[in-house]
Amino acid sequence: MSKTTAPKVLDDARGRLEFIYERLDVSEDARQRLAQPQRVIETAIPVRMDNGALRVFQGWRVQYDTTRGPGKGGIRFHPDVNVGEVTALSFWMAIKCAVVNLPYGGAKGGVKVDPKKLSRMELERLSRGYMRAMYDILGPDMDIPAPDVNTNPTIMGWMADEYSNIARGQLPGVITGKPLGLGGSEGRIAATGDGALQVLKIWSERNNRDPSSMTVAIQGFGNAGYYFACAAQKLGFKVVAVSDSKGAVYSDEGLDVHAIWEHKNRTKELKGIVYSEKSVDDEKDVDHIDNDELLTLDVDVLALAALENQITKDNAKDIQAGLVLEIANGPVTSKADEILADRGIPVLPDVLVNTGGVIVSYFEWIQNRTGDYWTAEVVGERMRARIAEEAATCFDLAENENISFRNAAYMQGIRRITQAMDDRGNQGYFNGD
Ligand code: GLU
Repeated sequence: MSKTTAPKVLDDARGRLEFIYERLDVSEDARQRLAQPQRVIETAIPVRMDNGALRVFQGWRVQYDTTRGPGKGGIRFHPDVNVGEVTALSFWMAIKCAVVNLPYGGAKGGVKVDPKKLSRMELERLSRGYMRAMYDILGPDMDIPAPDVNTNPTIMGWMADEYSNIARGQLPGVITGKPLGLGGSEGRIAATGDGALQVLKIWSERNNRDPSSMTVAIQGFGNAGYYFACAAQKLGFKVVAVSDSKGAVYSDEGLDVHAIWEHKNRTKELKGIVYSEKSVDDEKDVDHIDNDELLTLDVDVLALAALENQITKDNAKDIQAGLVLEIANGPVTSKADEILADRGIPVLPDVLVNTGGVIVSYFEWIQNRTGDYWTAEVVGERMRARIAEEAATCFDLAENENISFRNAAYMQGIRRITQAMDDRGNQGYFNGD
């Protein structure tokens, strides 16, 4: 969609709060605290390129709120990253961590760069440069980054290493999503997709829907989209379409997601060992459709695993799916939310659906700090149990209060954040009311 029609993601994100504040009777103090981020750091990262030239990249870290614990949230490498987007993403992290009751606030980082155009060594220098620039505001008890769009375990490993070099000591708990050999957790790579499937499974059970009779289209075939597709297929869902930024493939028989993933990885060039340069559109035995067509397919579940602002007021009327599952952050705008609600299409919201990633990040942080490492089974079980418990309260709240799933999740998150704020004393307390 065109950038000019996209609403400002931050205004859109915060615009959703008024309804929640009224429902929860949130104190004026808490409203004021949540009206802006606590801290916004912008930095310039100089990187020596392989040809000897110097390039300077803009980078940000935003800590939206740290009332409930240290900041937590990924770092995104993308040419369109800007401070408004990073702030919105940090705000969502604060909500998200509270929705699933992790002892964290919300933060997010970003670098304005197209990583596909960097060599591996340039990428390493940029990643280490980001950590050097942000060293003073990051730490296991301050703010803990993780992967996000276009960043991965290798990059987290470089950053953790840079942090430890500066600190003159091993502090793996400063960053999560690391490779296993550097203190990463079993199950972290698949966690966002696995967690999203868990939420979909709970929703299906509550609605007496049998996965084997349900079709799924997935927008976005990066890490989250791929692992979600695998987990969905394993449970019996039929994945009929997937897309990446360059195109989409469709088969009403169901797709072989492993073959498509392998193809996507196989066809990349040398410098694309970390990033695929080719599109899933190159896959052969399937129909090729464009991204807009994927969004409007008549499927049971439309899973959005790409970027924000994908369903807007312009295309919400064309959505035919029975259910929208937000695996990415912010893929449905608030206007589109209203249109989908009017049309009776439920949306399972990002701040619940994609929490599998940050939950396993939390487990990684615990393991780093205790030195007690868990098996993949233990990680998976604990993640699914946490999501099941928190999703059940959100679903009950939505039903009992007759509100959308998003509003229910926001109520759960905002209640916990504002409770923590009020526990430090608010106007009523200090006035002796
Ligand atoms: N970037 C992921 C998210 O948006 C993971 C964050 C984390 O693990 O800290 O939820």
